[in-house]
Amino acid sequence: MFHEQLFNIPLEAQQKIAIIGGGAMGISLASILSQLGIAKVTLLEAESIPLNHYSASLNNTGILHHFVYGGHFSTLELLFKQTILFKKVMPDYVFEDNYVNYVAPNIEGNTAIYQKGVTLKDVSKNLMEIYKNHINNYPSEQIFGSAQELVQQIDTEEILWGTGDKNSFNGAVKVKQPVLNIGEYCSHLSQLLNELIKEQKINLQTNHRVTNIELSDRGFKLKINHEENLYFNTVINTGYAGGLEIPIPSFSGEKEVGNIVKLKVYGLYKIPENLKNKIPQLIENFSSTLLIRGQYAGIIKAGEDRLAIFYGLEYDQAELYIPLAKTPFNLPQNWISWIRDETNYFGNRNETSILQAIQQGVSQWIPWVGQLEPIKLKKNLQVYPGQKPANELEVAKRDHNPIRYHYQHQTGEQYIHIPGAKLTSVVYHSFLIIHKLLQTYINKGILTEQEVKQHLIIDNNRTIIISPKLESLLGKGLPQSPPEKREKVMRELNVY
Ligand SMILES: Cc1cc2nc3c(=O)[nH]c(=O)nc-3n(C[C@H](O)[C@H](O)[C@H](O)COP(=O)(O)OP(=O)(O)OC[C@H]3O[C@@H](n4cnc5c(N)ncnc54)[C@H](O)[C@@H]3O)c2cc1C
Repeated sequence: MFHEQLFNIPLEAQQKIAIIGGGAMGISLASILSQLGIAKVTLLEAESIPLNHYSASLNNTGILHHFVYGGHFSTLELLFKQTILFKKVMPDYVFEDNYVNYVAPNIEGNTAIYQKGVTLKDVSKNLMEIYKNHINNYPSEQIFGSAQELVQQIDTEEILWGTGDKNSFNGAVKVKQPVLNIGEYCSHLSQLLNELIKEQKINLQTNHRVTNIELSDRGFKLKINHEENLYFNTVINTGYAGGLEIPIPSFSGEKEVGNIVKLKVYGLYKIPENLKNKIPQLIENFSSTLLIRGQYAGIIKAGEDRLAIFYGLEYDQAELYIPLAKTPFNLPQNWISWIRDETNYFGNRNETSILQAIQQGVSQWIPWVGQLEPIKLKKNLQVYPGQKPANELEVAKRDHNPIRYHYQHQTGEQYIHIPGAKLTSVVYHSFLIIHKLLQTYINKGILTEQEVKQHLIIDNNRTIIISPKLESLLGKGLPQSPPEKREKVMRELNVY
């Protein structure tokens, strides 16, 4: 099914590489790496299945983010480049929506896009400029049409449909921006992983929680479930929040500042029949909508008649700053038991009251939201690299380096810890790490710079350029499995 391995170096030169964590990041990285012919790849997952119910990859709103962080040009540019790369390598069926509406409520406040003097118009202009530069440099990457088509002003009526007050908004724009269907995306990654396991390119080990990592004379020694030891040349920790619980090997590597871990929630709601009859556009042509300024909130398309909704005041239920010097860090037990549905209460709140508060909050601006039927609360941990931010804008702009800890031994062996960032960044970061790994083979004279450049280049403007062969490694050409099979996978993964 997959083409010949790209580099095909001799078996004895192939490193044994362990990837910790079978979330979107671990699976994407393992899939690309295992088809290059440079390493024997083992994927270690703590739970009984990869992409499990407790991972962030199954419990997020799936927006390929950029515009909302537009108060900071460099962040907007990087996230947009990450979005382009993501869209380029994934099959179309994993996307639920192609547009995001941004509406600015008529109040001041401290939210993602807010920075004194920055308006929707400024961000639109910046985004168009970034896109123009990008397609000037890479004309084949015009995946959002022309720059003018990328962002368009809209009438708030397209969001309110006769409900609510148009004057309570300061303007609205519609941006061509992909939103993932998390069920289809996870089902696709699961299918890709299974194909690669069948072809013996990835060795998946489930129920393998890494509990310690140390350097030994046989390379990195990984303790599994506090019992067994496994040895690898290189280890990449993509355990996200759980990955912060693994002790950092005690060597004098460079220590970056730390990470913020947030306990986040959003609600899943159904569009009831009476609302479908009243506002048929909700089914026919609703685009995911984000409220920015004042109240950062969102209504995201999550399937035929399902919407995922978050609301600023409820989005973060708790948060912690974890300096790297404090690693390993045990995540709070009450957070974990709540995420695992072992309790219905967090603090003194129950899930029904949080679902109602989300709905009430957003319906102040967009009244039809109040008529949706709550399905369930989705909750998970989100990790941001960096120090405690003063506001949402800082969350985005603060630190672009996803690698929190990198140790490279003189023999070329590496430990890379990449705990944070967004789903938006998963593809970009996978190629970033692949690029780093390939440098080791160049340094050892196993591959030449030229051989690598044929397939993967990071230009001096942070654009990642990949060859058509690399473009296919995340399963773009894989035929979609039949609906019954996908539904079965989604049920097993417990996505909705
Ligand atoms: C509420 C919410 C909304 C979000 N919305 C968006 C959004 O709209 N757009 C966006 O771009 N991003 C969003 N994100 C962020 C996004 O979900 C994450 O960036 C992304 O899913 C991280 O993927 P991952 O594979 O690194 O982590 P995960 O999916 O959490 O996977 C980590 C895996 O590692 C395993 N693991 C952990 N510790 C160990 C160990 N010691 N040994 C072995 N295995 C281990 C875990 O079991 C898990 O399977 C959101 C996050 C949350 C919580």
